[in-house]
Amino acid sequence: MRQALVDHLTPAQRSAHMGRIRRADTKPEWIVRRMLHALGYRFRLQWAAAPGRPDVAFPGRRKIIFVHGCFWHQHAGCRNATMPRTRTEFWQEKFARNRERDMRDLVRAEAGGWTVLVVWECETKAKAGLEARLVEFLGPTIAP
Ligand SMILES: [Zn+2]
Repeated sequence: MRQALVDHLTPAQRSAHMGRIRRADTKPEWIVRRMLHALGYRFRLQWAAAPGRPDVAFPGRRKIIFVHGCFWHQHAGCRNATMPRTRTEFWQEKFARNRERDMRDLVRAEAGGWTVLVVWECETKAKAGLEARLVEFLGPTIAP
């Protein structure tokens, strides 16, 4: 009887599976989306009509939210924005490109009449602060 309860995954497979679930749940984009949803906002994901394909878009309000990983987008002054010790030149160039693209997207979005909020990965850890910022940025849930 006991044998029937044993699942068919090897420990390695199970660990990979659990890792995927954990990662998906804690991804900054997911934290923001879940919070917006819980607050009652309706939104579009990766809206192609706005510059930079923002993570979350509110076309009716003409507002967009970019959620940036602190490492990949090199959050200024953040302790998570570390520089790898190997292949440093490669990373410096990569980060520079990412930041240029971020800046370009921001400028183009604002020029196109979009209001932009950037949420950094480290800011998604403090739930109350994040929630307050989202509500302040978006206003009441019932809006055009
Ligand atoms: Zn950060």
